[in-house]
Parts: sequence; structure tokens; C-alpha cells
Amino acid sequence: MNEENSSAQNYNHVLEEMRRHSKKHGVEMPTLVCVSKTYDAQAIQPVIDAGARVFGENRVQEAQGKWPELKAATPDIELHLIGPLQSNKTKEAVALFDCIQTVDREKIAKSIAKEMKAQEKSLKLFVQVNTGSESQKAGILPDEALEFVRFCQNDLALEIEGLMCIPPFDENPGPHFALLRKLSREAGVEKLSMGMSADYLTATEFNATHVRVGSGIFGARDYSKA
Ligand SMILES: *Cc1c(COP(=O)(O)O)cnc(C)c1O
Repeated sequence: MNEENSSAQNYNHVLEEMRRHSKKHGVEMPTLVCVSKTYDAQAIQPVIDAGARVFGENRVQEAQGKWPELKAATPDIELHLIGPLQSNKTKEAVALFDCIQTVDREKIAKSIAKEMKAQEKSLKLFVQVNTGSESQKAGILPDEALEFVRFCQNDLALEIEGLMCIPPFDENPGPHFALLRKLSREAGVEKLSMGMSADYLTATEFNATHVRVGSGIFGARDYSKA
């Protein structure tokens, strides 16, 4: 993305590309999740002003530092947790977020179910699948995904909206998107969160319902500030 462009211009550009690409391939236009991790409220506001309403953050504590105020000012914002959740942060996560995309093990599913009940708040939930079976990566293994979705639905009465994946960064993402789509159909869940700045158009072709774009909107991240 052009470094000289403003984040608002980048946001509109990404939306336009998605629109063009979904039309060309005859697929539904996904929801654009603007990933604002490492960026502060001041950097995020222009993208809200440009019309964005769905945002993603990957750390609970970082999100707590900026989103309560931003959400108070623009109440129709939908905030997604897209990073791993520890059970000692579930209470805060359920209070702040509208969607958790990273449900990936029994312990965290149980703790989310318990907190949603305690707070009388219902969040949208996605199960994260480790499509590349990478040992260091979060997510349920593909072989265990269906059983885990059933566990969430039947044992915990959680409504699972869909599946989410982060393909290995050095691999062609297409086969991973195809695998996630196949698993979602087998599990009978509708939503597919896949695709980031480098591959959101590919993900769109594979019927993503949500793409998560960070640097393509906000610019390169400076992790020393995170
Ligand atoms: C950071 C992040 C993104 C966005 O990555 P970009 O390459 O900057 O678009 C998407 N998904 C997850 C889970 C992330 O942590």
C-alpha cells in the first residue's frame, strides 16, 4: 500500500478492490475487519470517520486502552478479538468485544460460556482452525475441528457463527482457505474469517465472509510501541 496515502484513503481503496473482485468472481462481498493493533485512538479515528464500523484487535489489554472511549463515541462499532485469549482475560474480553474469532479449546470455550452468562451478554463466536497444523500456532487442528464445534454447540449451548484461520505465512494460502471452507460446510456454520493484507482478494474468491486487513489500511506496524 502507498505509504503516502492516508488510512482513510487506504480503507476506501481496500473496500473498492473487494467490491471489484467479488463482482468479478461472482461471490458475496465480505465484511472488512480493520485490524488496528499497535495503532492508537488518534490513528483509528480517521478510519471510523471514513465509515468503518468493524475493527479487530489481537490483545485484550491493548484494546482496553483505546476502545471503550472510541465505542462510546460511535456505539455501532463492532469489535472483534482476533488474537489468542487466555482464560484469566475472558471476563474483560467478554465485556469489551462483540465477537471472539479465536475460540480454539475446551477450557476457553467453557470460560466464555460462563462469562457470557454472568454478564448477560451474547458475543458472536468463531472457532479458530490451525489449518497448517503448525506447532507454534493457536487454533484447533483440522481433524478435531468438527468435534470441537459440536462440543461448543451441544455441551455449552454456544452459537458458533463460523471458522477463522491464519495460514502459514510462507505458503500459498489458497489450499488453506479451501480447507476452512470445506470444514465450515461439514460443520454447518456459515461464516469464514480468512485473508489479511497480502491475500484478502484470494480469500474473497474462496467465499470469505470476513477479511482482516491491518497494514493495508493503517500502514506498517511498529511493534516497539505495542
Ligand atoms: C495482525 C493480524 C491481521 C492483519 O494483518 P495484516 O497483514 O497487517 O493485514 C489479521 N489477522 C490476525 C489474526 C492478525 O493478528
